[in-house]
Amino acid sequence: MTNLDVTDEKSTGVQITGKGIRTGEEYLAGLRDDREVWTKGKRVSDVTVEPGMNRGAATLASFLDRQNQDEYRGCVTYVDDDGDRCAMAYKRPTSVEDIKARGRAYYEWATWSNGMFGRTPDYKNASVMAFAHATDFLAQGTKGNTDFAKNMVDFYDFARKNDKVLTHTLVNPAVNFQQAAAGKFSDQVALHVTKETDAGIYVTGARLLATLGPLADEIEVFPSTVLRATEDNIPFAFAFALPIATPGLKLLCRDTYDHGASNFDAPLSSRYEEMDAVVIFDNVFVPWERTFMYGQPELCNQAFGATNAVVHMMHQVACGKLAKAEFIVGLLCKIASASGRDEDLYTKGLIAEVMQMTESVRAMLFSSEEQAHEDEFGNFIPLRSPIDTSRNMFPKMYPRMLEVLQLIGSSSLMATPAEADFNNEMTPHVEQYFQLANMESRDRVAMFRLAHDVAISGFGTRQALYERFFFGPPALIASAYYDAYDKEPKMDRIDQLLSQN
Ligand SMILES: Cc1cc2nc3c(=O)[nH]c(=O)nc-3n(C[C@H](O)[C@H](O)[C@H](O)COP(=O)(O)OP(=O)(O)OC[C@H]3O[C@@H](n4cnc5c(N)ncnc54)[C@H](O)[C@@H]3O)c2cc1C
Repeated sequence: MTNLDVTDEKSTGVQITGKGIRTGEEYLAGLRDDREVWTKGKRVSDVTVEPGMNRGAATLASFLDRQNQDEYRGCVTYVDDDGDRCAMAYKRPTSVEDIKARGRAYYEWATWSNGMFGRTPDYKNASVMAFAHATDFLAQGTKGNTDFAKNMVDFYDFARKNDKVLTHTLVNPAVNFQQAAAGKFSDQVALHVTKETDAGIYVTGARLLATLGPLADEIEVFPSTVLRATEDNIPFAFAFALPIATPGLKLLCRDTYDHGASNFDAPLSSRYEEMDAVVIFDNVFVPWERTFMYGQPELCNQAFGATNAVVHMMHQVACGKLAKAEFIVGLLCKIASASGRDEDLYTKGLIAEVMQMTESVRAMLFSSEEQAHEDEFGNFIPLRSPIDTSRNMFPKMYPRMLEVLQLIGSSSLMATPAEADFNNEMTPHVEQYFQLANMESRDRVAMFRLAHDVAISGFGTRQALYERFFFGPPALIASAYYDAYDKEPKMDRIDQLLSQN
């Protein structure tokens, strides 16, 4: 690793020029920059036209457009003190009603894709809002004249006023599991500081992973608070944000799941390919104005928890998962009723299991919002434990939901002629042999192609992986849950009973 020395680069600073929510076209125009995105072995010149990415970008653009439409505006936006209309997740909550309004906005966003476009901008907006309103925490950071708290507030205003779409990357790759488990990072692979100057820092290394990275405007590079760093990890301890189109920042994408099929043939992957990318930093310059923490592993370890950003993110996630779970219930019920199996005890029992999971998420969300309370920074937060329970359980629920869909769908998930088969010489056969008691052939094929995209396709399988891991390693999240759980009163009852012996 290079020694940290000082030079004098010019800072790019943070410009706050916008007036709140954008249109989809403005968002797409913003993506046409010098970003370095790689897919299928080549560099992408324009993500908005690149096959396999363009339709996901168009979908997100259509969602941003909805913020401007009468039908949705009141739910998903608010008017700030300057009179600018901004995305609701940026609004600082100061009451239980504010928390519920946030929940309604998150849920509304999620219903637009039935939870299948997982990384809608409200997820990161919520996190930035929380960090920017927990300035006492960031103000503990010290580095010369750098005012980390102000930097965060400036970034919040910049992102909010310009309606930026953010992604984030938290996890360092590991070359050795034991080393990683001990909280140590390897400078062979992990993102680290190589040089420090009057103007900022230089970083090199990789991060896993950035969902939506190629289609985002900005990337937050924060420390993971579940993978705790040790004191000897100072070069790895920082939080900053950069435009995706920053020189040296490279996004290496996985294979796309959008293979250009029609909406009929691939109802989800033709619409909701949000793309994941490994992020490689090749000597990337980060101005001090865009850093929020630096060189203090202990502070970094606490960041998401101490600011309650994680609670706001859990809230967004629980609302999205409710929309997604409801969608799976709807699909299962449609399949059962179309085939007449809605009278079958076994089928009803399987679907009831998914209904119960869905209602559990709803109950946890309700409980959390109803018990929202003020935190130490004067912001309101939903009660953590119910939505933390939801975030721990949903990674197990979702694969089971897909299993139920497979058990009920069975070979019908494979009996999926293409849209073109309704317009060729096979049409009479397809119309004859694919009908169901309560559904015509074309509708049945469309329904099972949807079920296939949910539970079988590459798109659907990636969704299951996403649910298992996107919020962090399940074992570590469960361990953190254990640590945070109010155990004492329960253990006291054991003591009380035993003391009577
Ligand atoms: C589809 C998808 C999208 C993602 N999007 C993002 C994103 O946008 N931004 C981002 O920052 N990250 C993202 N991630 C990465 C995610 O944060 C990580 O996958 C997650 O933190 C797990 O880390 P890992 O993949 O390195 O697995 P590992 O840490 O290698 O874990 C592998 C397995 O080992 C278990 N394990 C790990 N450590 C321990 C331990 N100490 N004790 C016991 N068991 C352990 C884990 O629970 C897991 O089951 C995404 C992941 C996926 C799959």
